[in-house]
Amino acid sequence: MSAEVQGHRARKRFGQNFLRDPNIIRRIVAAIDPKPGEHLVEIGPGLGALTEPLINAAGHLTAIELDRDLAARLRERFPEERLRLIEGDALRFDFATLPAPLRVVGNLPYNVSTPLLFHLAGYADRIKDMTFMLQKEVVERMAAEPGSAAYGRLSVMLQLRFAVRKCFDVPPGAFVPVPKVTSSIVRLTPLPRGRYEVDDFPTFARVVAAAFNQRRKTLRNALKALASAEIFSRTGIDACLRAEMLSVADFVRLANALSREKP
Ligand code: SAM
Repeated sequence: MSAEVQGHRARKRFGQNFLRDPNIIRRIVAAIDPKPGEHLVEIGPGLGALTEPLINAAGHLTAIELDRDLAARLRERFPEERLRLIEGDALRFDFATLPAPLRVVGNLPYNVSTPLLFHLAGYADRIKDMTFMLQKEVVERMAAEPGSAAYGRLSVMLQLRFAVRKCFDVPPGAFVPVPKVTSSIVRLTPLPRGRYEVDDFPTFARVVAAAFNQRRKTLRNALKALASAEIFSRTGIDACLRAEMLSVADFVRLANALSREKP
């Protein structure tokens, strides 16, 4: 049976683990460091553990909540001029409809965290920064450097657009219901425009996915269907390496050479 929190039955399918530790809540708000007048967007406000202190600091906040019951509770609790509540799925939300620059925050539902990060990456030019609570293991993959076991598709796709920095860990006991895993706070800050110039984003995404899909194979084999031997010699990338040895800049070089080769 699912846990009841403040009269709300926590829904597993919405990834509901509510923050209850006031010290951790204070530390997260301090890490976000909201300033009056900034446009904060909270994903999954839930029962409002972060929402309230964030509104108090920034004056106003936009929140996106999928759970209809929680959305109704939040509407009752906060006046419209303090909280603009969007009831719906953050995965389908068009963040370009909100005034930039955005500071996106949230204790993210773990079941949708990766697709949500990919969705938000598409709005990098409208975002000032993002501070999220995620599964520790996911944060390690996001921030991983080439050559490490955690380095993979998620690291490359996010580091193409953001500087990723882990802030601190949060133990399972900080939530109700208590999750099975440790969480971490992570900060993503968009890289300066032009840091990496990708000619054709779908080609880049395809190369990265194919390279890590068979991460034990050499690039020559993993990218057999995409890249000729000539591409490797032209870009100076050793085809005998595995994907985990390539930097983000290497992937950009490889993908750009491929997209230029297309008819
Ligand atoms: N922020 C609250 C806290 O820290 O206590 C709740 C965090 S809980 C881990 C995740 C929240 O995201 C829940 O309120 C859940 O209903 C909401 N949620 C789940 N999937 C969502 C989605 N696709 N779009 C928006 N909100 C979602």
